[in-house]
Amino acid sequence: MTEKRIYLPYMCDHAYAMAAAMRHYGLPAQVMAEPDAESMRIGKALCLGKECLPCFTCIGDIVKQSREPGFDAARAVLFMPTTAGPCRFGQYRALLRILLDEQGLDAIEIMSPTAENSYQGFGEHPVKLRLLIWRGAVGVDLLQKLRHEHRPYEVNVGETDALYRACLTELCEALEAGGAREAVAAMRQAAARFQALSIRREERRPIIGMVGEIYLRHNPFTNQEIARQVEALGGEVWVATLMEWFYFTNLGALNRARAGGKIVELLKTRATDGIQERIEREMLAPVAPLLRNAHETPIAEVVANDAPYYDPDLGTEAALSIGKAIDFARMGVSGILNILPFSCMPGTTVAGLSAAIRRDHDAIPWLDVMYDDQEATNVTTRLEAFMYQARQYRRRMKMVHAMGS
Ligand code: SF4
Repeated sequence: MTEKRIYLPYMCDHAYAMAAAMRHYGLPAQVMAEPDAESMRIGKALCLGKECLPCFTCIGDIVKQSREPGFDAARAVLFMPTTAGPCRFGQYRALLRILLDEQGLDAIEIMSPTAENSYQGFGEHPVKLRLLIWRGAVGVDLLQKLRHEHRPYEVNVGETDALYRACLTELCEALEAGGAREAVAAMRQAAARFQALSIRREERRPIIGMVGEIYLRHNPFTNQEIARQVEALGGEVWVATLMEWFYFTNLGALNRARAGGKIVELLKTRATDGIQERIEREMLAPVAPLLRNAHETPIAEVVANDAPYYDPDLGTEAALSIGKAIDFARMGVSGILNILPFSCMPGTTVAGLSAAIRRDHDAIPWLDVMYDDQEATNVTTRLEAFMYQARQYRRRMKMVHAMGS
C-alpha cells in the first residue's frame, strides 16, 4: 500500500479529517480538489443522464484528477464507500469501474468499505483507524455547528469562516500527527477561539433545520451554498450531521444481527456503538457550552419519529431525513429545508410525505429544494417566501407558548 496513493472525493470537509486519520495509520491518502463546474461537465459527458447528481461530480472529480501532472493510474486507489439497498449509491462503484475503464483508467483501483457492516475498517489497524476517522468526523461536525451558530451574528464579515478554516486545519494536523488526545486538545483550542469571536450575542434569528441527501446537504458547490443564502435572508441554519449516518449504519447492523440471532455480531456492534458515543462525548465536552444545538438525539429516537409516515425497515436516507426533520421541529426550529438531487428516490419520498409531517407539526414551514445542475434562479424567490413564512411561524409559536404559560 505504501507505493499507492489513496484519493478521496471531496464531499465535504470531513474528507480532510478522514484523510488525516488514514495518514496517521500509514495510508497515503489525499483529498481530491473540490467539485466544480469542470467536474460536473466531465461527469455529465460520461454518464448516461439517468444517474443522480452526486454521481456526476464523483466521476468528474477522479477523471479531472487523472489529468493532473504527475498522476499515475497504476498507483492510484479511489476511495468510494458503498452500500446495499434501493439507493443508487450502491451502484456508484460498478458504474465508476465501467467509466474509468472506458477512459483508459483501468489501472485505478477502487476501495469500497460498505455500510452493510457499518464500515468495518481497512488497512493494518482497521479498528483503530475506524475510530480515529470517527473522531475526526465528529470533530468536523462540531466545528461546522460552531460555524453555523456563530456566522449569522459575526461583527466582522468573514471572521467566522476564517476561524473555522484554522480550527479545521488544527484538527486535521492533530489527527495526523497525534491522535485521540491531540484531537480533543484541538477542540479545546477551537472552543477558546470561538469564545473570543466578536458576535452580536443579543440577536436571535429564525432557525432553519436542514435535512436531505447527505452529499448535497454537505457539499456547497452542488447545493449552491444554500446555508449562506438562508443566512443572507436573515436565518440561521442547523444542518443534520454526518455522524447521524454512522449511527444509523450501526443501528442497521444491530437490527440485522438481532434478527439473524448472531450474538457475537450483536455484541461487537453494541461495543463499537458505545465507544463511538464515548468519543463523541469527549470531542463535544469542550465546545458544548458554546452551542445551542450541541447534543445529537439518539439515532433510535430519531428513527422512531418515522412512524406513522415511513417504515424505517425500508432503509435509505429517507428514514433519517423524516426522523431528523421531526426532531428539529421538536427542538423549536422555525422551518425545514429538505435538500435533494433531481430524481433522488429517498429525497423524493421525503418530499412526498412532507405535507403529512407538516400537518402533524403545527404546519411548520417546509421547503423541498431539488438540484439538477441548473442555475436555479427560482430558488432565491422560493427561499425568500420560505423565510417570510419562517418568521411568521416563529412569531405564532412564541404567542402560543406565551398563552400556554
Ligand atoms: S440518496 Fe439519492 S442522490 Fe444520493 S445516491 Fe441515493 S439516489 Fe442518488
